[in-house]
Amino acid sequence: MGEVATYLCTGCPLGCRLEVEVVEEDVVEVRGFACRRGERYGRQEHLDPRRSVTTTVWIEGAVIPRVPVRSAEEVPKDRIGDVVGALRGLRVQAPVHRGDVVLEDAAGTGIDVIVTRDLARVGAAPEHAPGA
Ligand code: SF4
Repeated sequence: MGEVATYLCTGCPLGCRLEVEVVEEDVVEVRGFACRRGERYGRQEHLDPRRSVTTTVWIEGAVIPRVPVRSAEEVPKDRIGDVVGALRGLRVQAPVHRGDVVLEDAAGTGIDVIVTRDLARVGAAPEHAPGA
């Protein structure tokens, strides 16, 4: 028997306790999952843990000073600090739309960072005004 690492599956509120058996850095078995998603999660969490990065960046010309953003994909856990660092001090210009890329290839991870809400430019006419 190899070493056993334990993780809590975050795939759904059930929160299954996963046991990941490892021999010479290879995952040989995942136990404790109630569905296949948990098996994949246990393997991924042990070999290459990743998380979504969510934060805010400065925006100029909008009604609020910062706009929420997130990574378009999950970022390797050990690169999260680099991605957050790359966003520090970034300023975007209103208007922005959900899904707009504010930073491509953040910190060389190959992962873009996108806006998660629309923000109009202050004083600009609505984009879809009735009768326009
Ligand atoms: S293994 Fe499946 S049922 Fe259990 S917490 Fe993960 S997603 Fe939910």
